[in-house]
Formats: sequence, structure tokens, C-alpha cells
Amino acid sequence: MEKIRYFDHAATTPTKEEVVKEMLPYFSLNYGNPSSIYSIGRKARKAVEEARQKVSKAIGASNKEIYFTSCGSESDNLAIKGVAYANRKKGNHIITTKIEHPAVLHTCQNLEKQGFEVTYLNVDSDGLIRLEELEQAITNSTILISIMFANNEIGTIQPIKEIGEIAKRHNIYFHTDAVQAIGNVKIDINELNIDLLSMSAHKFYGPKGMGALYVRTGVKFDKIQDGGHQEKNKRAGTENVAGIVGLGKAIELVYENFDEYNQKLKNLRDYYISQVEEKIPYIKINGHRTKRLPGNANISFKFIEGESLLLNLDMKGICASSGSACTSGSLEPSHVLVAIGLEPEIAHGSLRVTFGEDNTKEDVDFLVTTLIEVVDKLRKMSPLYEEQK
Ligand SMILES: *Cc1c(COP(=O)(O)O)cnc(C)c1O
Repeated sequence: MEKIRYFDHAATTPTKEEVVKEMLPYFSLNYGNPSSIYSIGRKARKAVEEARQKVSKAIGASNKEIYFTSCGSESDNLAIKGVAYANRKKGNHIITTKIEHPAVLHTCQNLEKQGFEVTYLNVDSDGLIRLEELEQAITNSTILISIMFANNEIGTIQPIKEIGEIAKRHNIYFHTDAVQAIGNVKIDINELNIDLLSMSAHKFYGPKGMGALYVRTGVKFDKIQDGGHQEKNKRAGTENVAGIVGLGKAIELVYENFDEYNQKLKNLRDYYISQVEEKIPYIKINGHRTKRLPGNANISFKFIEGESLLLNLDMKGICASSGSACTSGSLEPSHVLVAIGLEPEIAHGSLRVTFGEDNTKEDVDFLVTTLIEVVDKLRKMSPLYEEQK
């Protein structure tokens, strides 16, 4: 079998061994329930609170502002529905963008069915929102602005500080889905005027099924799941102690090693892009060229179908992602690529490559060599390409 070369770190990352090692004692040894008052319960409680401290420290928050959840999607749901339900009397209008993750988009669509009004802001060809459009969209009934920190498909980073200032000036809560930004951007929630922030452990070398939500003290939000009084009565359910410990360790490690890690990702990405630009014709690079995540490269290969590209790469042991989403059996071009103005045919031929700490320059060389071969092979089968030549 071919060696696996993994270039899909925006989809998920391997859990670091150091993280797993920290988690292990909380399965069969210190298995107490953090709500129990005897010693092994207290041990579990202590581990949960130490992890909370690590999360709050990473983003400049205080411990009581961190709520543990089951994933990034739950954090987005809790933030948006939580604020919407608790502030219904004040207003029913929410502002978001057309390029959000489904965890935000579908939550907003769900709220529309419940009588909320949602504005979905357009983005420009680099994937950036326009601040004037955001200001113009604000009405007397706007209660929440939810705009992602960095996009998972094209890597574009939004002007978060400016958005935070606008939200603050108008007295509107500002939530950001920072799932892709944690570990890749230094975040201080006070400097950026962020009121709510979602994160997910498996995107920064922590375990899957573990998320957190930051909520600024004083922000009115309701729980969305009923049950016990865990997480300050905002998120019922016995804490995932091992997962929480893993999230805490992962966020600590990624920020400890921040400069070196992100420089490495940036070098790999820049090398990859320059190699593709030099060696493969008829391409388009998507996303903002500088305001972008260090490890993300999204490139459209014209006259190519993304699914065939992925299958051919997979035969060589390469894991990457395409510009299509398989919905109900038919291939829809990605909503993000459509929003930045790509024609559906071009969107379909897009390849998202996201680098991680396990990648090497040799991996990139292998990827580029393989891409040259595969792109050439697939284009030779395309009648449109033959016409173009
Ligand atoms: C992965 C991702 C999510 C969802 O996180 P899960 O933990 O997988 O639910 C939400 N938003 C963005 C931007 C993501 O990349």
C-alpha cells in the first residue's frame, strides 16, 4: 500500500500522542463524576477546571466564561440559538455571511423557520465581507452578528477586530466561529471585542467530539439542552472529562509552539502554491492572498472534475478535499466557492490542501508531481480542454 500523505487538516487532525497520554488516566483510573464529592470525583473536577484554565488563558478570557460542549457544531448552535432565544424580546434579527460553516448556516436557517430574520452578507472575490454592508444591514432589531474568524474552505481571515468594533458601537453581540483560527491566529477576545467564540479540539490536534464556547460575562444566552446543572447550568450532561483534558492539553501545546508551527505551515503552503503556479497551467488560486490561514491552499484546476481528481490522488495515498459537497447524491458546487463568484464548472475542479505539522517538503514534492500527472491525464479526457488548446 502507498504511504498515506495527509493534506486535509481543515477536516481533522491526528490527536497528538502527548494529548492522548494526558487523557488516558481519566477513563479507567480517575473515572469519577466531576459532580461527585468524594476523592475521585474531586480529581475529575480538578482536571476539568485545569483544562478550563488552559482554554481561557489561550484566548484571554476568564475561567467562568468557558463552557465545554461536544463539538464545534454544538458550540455554534449554543451560541446562536442561545442568544436568539434569550434576546427575543429585544429583537429577532441576526446577521451572518454566505460562507459560514453549515453549523452556523443551518442553525440560522432553522431560526428563520421560528420567526427570526437573518441577513446573509455577500463576500467579495477574495472571500472578505464588506464592513459598510455589515453596518447597513444593522437594524433596531439586530441582536447578533455571527461571522466566522477564518473560512474552512478558502482560508480567508475576516476583519474580526473591525467587526467587533461595529458590533460594540451598536450594542449587538458578536459571535465568531473560530474553529479554523484556533492555533493558527493569536486571539485576544478583549482586543477583538468578541462576545462569543466557538472552537473544536479535533481541528488543533485534540480529540474528536470535544468543543468549547467562550461567552463574555453579562451576555444573555439560554441553554439549548435540558438536564442537570453542569457548565453553570448552560450545558446539561456529565462532563466528557477525558475529552476536556485533551482539549486543554491540545490548546496549550499549539500556542506554546505557535511561531514555529505556523511558520512551518506557511512555508509548506507557499512552496506548494509556487510549484503549482510554475508547473500547471490554467489554474486559479482561491481566497485572499495574504489575509489567510497559514496552512490553507485552495486551487481550481480548470477543465477538471474535483471528484475524479480526489479519487486519482487517493490511489497515490494522498488525502485532500474538493470544491464540491455531496448533497443527496448530486454534486453541488461548494457554497463558499459560489459566493466568491466562481463558475460552477471551475468550482467543481477545486482542490483544498491543508497542511499540518506532520507534513514535510518531500510530501509536497510528491503531491505536486502527482498533481502534474493526474491533471494532465484528466485534462486529456476533457473535450473543453482540447478546444481551449
Ligand atoms: C470543523 C468546523 C466546524 C465543526 O466542528 P465539529 O467539531 O466538527 O462539529 C465548525 N466550523 C468550522 C469553521 C469548521 O471548520
